[in-house]
Amino acid sequence: MKTNLQFARATAKAETIDPERAWKQLLARDPEAEFFYAVATTGVFCRPNCKSRQPRRENVWFFASLQAAQAAGFRACMRCKPCAPRSNPLDKVRGYLEKNLDRPVPLAELGRVAGLSPFTVQRLFKKGLGVSPLQYQRALRAGRLRNKLKDGGSVTDAIYEAGFGSSSRAYEGSALGMTPARFAQGGKGEKIGWCASSTPFGWMVVGATERGLCWLALGGTATEAEASLRAEFPLATLRRDPSLAHLVSAALAGVRDGSDLFAGRDHAEALDLRGTVFQLRVWQALRAIPRGETRTYSQLAREMGQPNATRAVARACALNRVAVVVPCHRVIGASGSLTGYRWGVERKRQMLEAERA
Ligand SMILES: [Zn+2]
Repeated sequence: MKTNLQFARATAKAETIDPERAWKQLLARDPEAEFFYAVATTGVFCRPNCKSRQPRRENVWFFASLQAAQAAGFRACMRCKPCAPRSNPLDKVRGYLEKNLDRPVPLAELGRVAGLSPFTVQRLFKKGLGVSPLQYQRALRAGRLRNKLKDGGSVTDAIYEAGFGSSSRAYEGSALGMTPARFAQGGKGEKIGWCASSTPFGWMVVGATERGLCWLALGGTATEAEASLRAEFPLATLRRDPSLAHLVSAALAGVRDGSDLFAGRDHAEALDLRGTVFQLRVWQALRAIPRGETRTYSQLAREMGQPNATRAVARACALNRVAVVVPCHRVIGASGSLTGYRWGVERKRQMLEAERA
């Protein structure tokens, strides 16, 4: 054993594990810690989240890989089975929630299921799925998610697509009388003023509620542009309002020189974006792309900290209701191709050219 331990010391050093940090992770039984530890007195090695008795610091060896631990002569622990593929606590929690759809499952219970603290469950969940366990349950109960999962889609896509009913959260405390869902369902009860103007990129029609710009479409003719507004909000009361032409100018300023007149309360114009929390985040990320630059969908997903959500990001871009101001035209294909554009690829090309100038 002695020579093995000497070897172990050399190996652990070679693989540059920070022993201070590793020891802290071991004490915390951190489920995300990537290393292995062995206990000299028992000859056994474990994953850091093993439930076995806490070893004494001076008997512990750290290894970056299980091969290294084995090579040093340690046996795999029977309890945490470090040689088995690592089970993801998130999968366990998710499976449990999906089996208990009929009732709200408290965080403490999820903690017991995963063998983690409720706080850790919450954090892992948000990190892995972008939402809290509570939001996930709400979406599950809403049924939409269940159907999506049944269709065989990926979980990540399904939860984003399910919309999380939690868009309400984005509007809590606001004076808004209508939920984003109703707004999306044709704008029932909403009053929308609109105005169409000819621009270098075709006819532009803007629609605005009393809260701000809610629609911007491009079309080949004024009629076509107006029709897109009616199609999007068939149940809203639409009223032509030439005084809204300033919104067209403000939108064009973004393409011309990158100025953002819709950037917030202190600015000239207001935006009335409504969507799920996820959609709003995507649209926000789009607005952060500077004039003259482009991103791919996967870059955007990474910038949002959700690298697995590329497809959901693409869909949120496609559902953008406020072209130009929420510059979905600045997103292109991974190969550099322009891919699609709701308002015509040729217009996208023209706008990108104008922005590069
Ligand atoms: Zn163990």
